[in-house]
Amino acid sequence: MPTASRRPDSVCVYCGSSNQADPRYLAAADQFGKDLADNGMRLVYGGGGVGLMGAVARAAHAAGGRVLGIMPEFLRSREILYDEVETIVVPNMHERKMIMFQESDAFVVLPGGIGTLEEIVELLSWRRLDLHRKPIVFANLDGFWNPLFELFDHTIGAKLTPADFREAWVSVDSIDAIMPALTEPKAAA
Ligand code: AMP
Repeated sequence: MPTASRRPDSVCVYCGSSNQADPRYLAAADQFGKDLADNGMRLVYGGGGVGLMGAVARAAHAAGGRVLGIMPEFLRSREILYDEVETIVVPNMHERKMIMFQESDAFVVLPGGIGTLEEIVELLSWRRLDLHRKPIVFANLDGFWNPLFELFDHTIGAKLTPADFREAWVSVDSIDAIMPALTEPKAAA
């Protein structure tokens, strides 16, 4: 089962592609991109130059960090491929997600929309199926992800998800708290 070392070398970031996002979220993405570079960790992400995706990638690259973007061919112009970093262009979304998963030791979820939700729910479902035990950290800025956690709790309350599945992820409330969560034992359990 794919698992991760205590200190990840490559960190996949799932986050929104919207340029209309709250500027605080765009600033948070920028801060985390720099944090990754400062900690010598490679950013793996969807390859776009827009929204939080673009912010995290530009910040990591500007700070001298390694970045790998994975972009489906049909989204190259819509998501404005950020080609100043290493980029893999793939035929479809499934391949994008698979490579993002394979290339990463840990996952961080910043605020995002439907696409971010799709990616994180799939990753959690793979964990539920015991296909991996890689750390997953939600940046729950301003309680952004609380409604999702409430939905998870709802399925746990209905005995459709086991209660100990809450251990599949870690939630932190600031960008500064992500790095410790990625490197502490609980995150790598
Ligand atoms: P959003 O959170 O909606 O802004 O989307 C964030 C990113 O997720 C964007 O790069 C989307 O292209 C991507 N995305 C959306 N759906 C999928 C999918 N099924 N597989 C892979 N990536 C996706």
